[in-house]
Amino acid sequence: MPTGRQESGNLLHERSPIRSGMTTMIQSALLSSFPSIRHAFTVKDHMLNGIRDELIIPTQTHDDTVVSVFDTNLTVVSDGLLTAISDVPIGVVTADCVPLLLFDPDKHIVGAVHAGWKGTLKHIAYKAVTSMVDLGSSFQSIRAAIGPAIKSCCYDIPPDRTQLFIEKFGTKSVIKSRGINYIDLQKINYQQLLSCGLSDYHIDLIPECTKCNDAYYSYRRGDRDKRMVSYIYLV
Ligand SMILES: [Zn+2]
Repeated sequence: MPTGRQESGNLLHERSPIRSGMTTMIQSALLSSFPSIRHAFTVKDHMLNGIRDELIIPTQTHDDTVVSVFDTNLTVVSDGLLTAISDVPIGVVTADCVPLLLFDPDKHIVGAVHAGWKGTLKHIAYKAVTSMVDLGSSFQSIRAAIGPAIKSCCYDIPPDRTQLFIEKFGTKSVIKSRGINYIDLQKINYQQLLSCGLSDYHIDLIPECTKCNDAYYSYRRGDRDKRMVSYIYLV
């Protein structure tokens, strides 16, 4: 199990996303370099570009289950999906939690993961890439894009949750300011991926806070029913 602590010498590749016009449909610069996939982090239904009917979004339970899917029109209960089948779009919904999209260009496997604080504590990012390795991937070939999520500027957590993060990821995972504890779920998931053996050059972190930026949906800002949709598929 990874410790989540960053190895010395690894760089955090925070990169601005690619934006489509004035909309809040953004893409990872890293994943966009691969013509064999389509992906996006979106906030509006109409941005799903004709895949809405086929898109598999699991019933998410803030747990650590990762499921491989082989067909569209499935009902799946999980917080992570994988597929190696072309034209089977998979996605997750979030509003402050971390959307994580995965791709192995060597074995042509994609993944979509919802990592909230509970899933992060249960190492769902680690479990997703390990499941890809079980399907034939190697950690060295997997690419990952960490999408917009609530960041440490806005994500204060109560003492009991603070203790859980310190136990799992060390004191450096918690940022203390004026007696309040904050965490950055994007960076903890990034470090979890590094601990698995992914290259820092293969992880794209889009450093945008969903609560600060009202173009995104944020549960903490009051969006109770609206969710971002992050999807990926092989073409
Ligand atoms: Zn913020």
